[in-house]
Amino acid sequence: MMNAAFAELGLDWRYVRLPVPPERFAETVRALPGSGYRGANVTIPHKLAAHDVADELSEAARAIGAANTLIFDGGRIIADNTDAGGLIDVLGESLPARALVLGAGGAGRAAVWALREAGAEVAVWNRTPEKAEALASELGVRHARRPESAELVVNATSVGLASAGGQDAAAETLGIATLPPPAVLVDLVYGAEPTALSRWAGARGARVVNGLEVLVRQGARSLELWTGRMAPLAAMRAAAGVA
Ligand code: NAP
Repeated sequence: MMNAAFAELGLDWRYVRLPVPPERFAETVRALPGSGYRGANVTIPHKLAAHDVADELSEAARAIGAANTLIFDGGRIIADNTDAGGLIDVLGESLPARALVLGAGGAGRAAVWALREAGAEVAVWNRTPEKAEALASELGVRHARRPESAELVVNATSVGLASAGGQDAAAETLGIATLPPPAVLVDLVYGAEPTALSRWAGARGARVVNGLEVLVRQGARSLELWTGRMAPLAAMRAAAGVA
């Protein structure tokens, strides 16, 4: 996706995969600017470490406590979190007033903060309630003790890649199968096929936004931070296989 975007912009840049063991993360990142890198995306399990290694934090990275994007500005490392803005970008003009976020891990934290910043009334539910309770109190939203109906539901758990058990299995695992369906479902989980949860919601009339679209939008924001250019969304969506 990123290499397709660089080609479309006529940039002679390369996006490469760099596996790093956690104990080498900080040392590796500090060596990157001097090796010609302009920035990096950071994924599991390094998002907290990316926040900690930075010389400067964006407002999103500071509030969420994790970063998925690093920008190298001379010798300085700036950390940002585009998972948050990417979610708002996919929702566009139609941000529902009431949102339920399922999950209180890294993706859940970013989703809660982004939706709250965008003006939605947010509740967060998590399988392990203490984590949702802590997140809710830290970010000033409501903790839902049980999953509840909402105009917008964001699945920020890792439930749902395996479609074993059929279309309703993920909704049942997450405790929303018997609730009125949301108007909009965002399933952050992504794969080559539509997830069981997105099929469940789509069959009940919800507008479904799949995780690949969010992936493209968070990537587009990262690319714009590195290059200062508008992201070529069509080329990125085609390369990512978004329908
Ligand atoms: P994480 O920090 O490991 O959090 C995992 C979350 O899933 C926790 O809330 C965990 O609850 C919950 N969970 C796991 N198994 C569960 C089950 N059987 N029932 C109910 N809840 C369960 O992971 P993350 O970084 O937040 O990522 C979560 C998902 O979002 C992943 O699939 C990731 O690929 C996706 N994601 C997508 C994008 C995108 O751009 N589309 C961006 C970021 C993340 P407990 O606390 O109870 O364990």
